[in-house]
Amino acid sequence: MARRKKIYEGKAKILYEGPEPGTIVQYFKDDATAFNAEKKDVIDGKGVLNNRLSEFFMTGLNQIGVPTHFIRRLNMREQLVRSCEIIPLEVIVRNYAAGSLSKRLGIAEGTQLPRPIVEYCYKDDSLGDPLVTEEHIAAFGWASQQDMDDILSLALRVNDFMSGVMLAVGIRLIDFKIEIGRVYEGDFQRLIVADEISPDSCRLWDIETGQKLDKDVFRRDLGSLTDAYSEVARRLGVLPKSNVTKPTLIN
Ligand code: 5GP
Repeated sequence: MARRKKIYEGKAKILYEGPEPGTIVQYFKDDATAFNAEKKDVIDGKGVLNNRLSEFFMTGLNQIGVPTHFIRRLNMREQLVRSCEIIPLEVIVRNYAAGSLSKRLGIAEGTQLPRPIVEYCYKDDSLGDPLVTEEHIAAFGWASQQDMDDILSLALRVNDFMSGVMLAVGIRLIDFKIEIGRVYEGDFQRLIVADEISPDSCRLWDIETGQKLDKDVFRRDLGSLTDAYSEVARRLGVLPKSNVTKPTLIN
């Protein structure tokens, strides 16, 4: 059997060369890290859940005309995606104050923001992904003004889609992070949503109880991460069949 070529291994995913040119196989690991990998653990089943959830969100985005890298899910832990050139920015959209925004500006977590706020961080683990402005992005050539206009529009469309989908199952989308990739089509380049969209990269709070259903459960030691992610998957109807409770003789 031929060994696959590993292109990149990150904290939560491995990328392998895909079966056709321009494709990549994205493998979701069970590893969880936080605080720039100072806190680490292996969470049984996390990769399976994130593979399913990212498939669900990316498929929905593709269906409403927001281009993403997602092609199809291959198996429990892997999906086929379009290869793209990742723009070295984390694009964060916030609807409610939480996390680093609350710390930075002294706004209580859970405070609704006057409008969605989009922030950019420079993707560099050794620097702890620092917050940057459009001035830095333009000056260092990480993205052009046209790219920035497209990135803002993609980020806000993802926010509207994700907020609506989550609201429908009783979950508030507090904030999220996406990554954007560049693909070339003949003489043109296009920006697409890449990486993953999952509870690893979003803050999701139950609307009724405020219970956290995202990676903060791991960051802040609030209980079982797989229980939280399974709850999100269950509400969205994307739980893998093997995780569904088997019927017994009495039900
Ligand atoms: P904060 O800046 O408050 O730490 O994070 C804002 C949002 O972006 C949260 O939903 C958080 O999960 C996500 N986020 C920020 N940085 C990263 C990162 O390096 N990896 C992942 N998976 N999500 C991130």
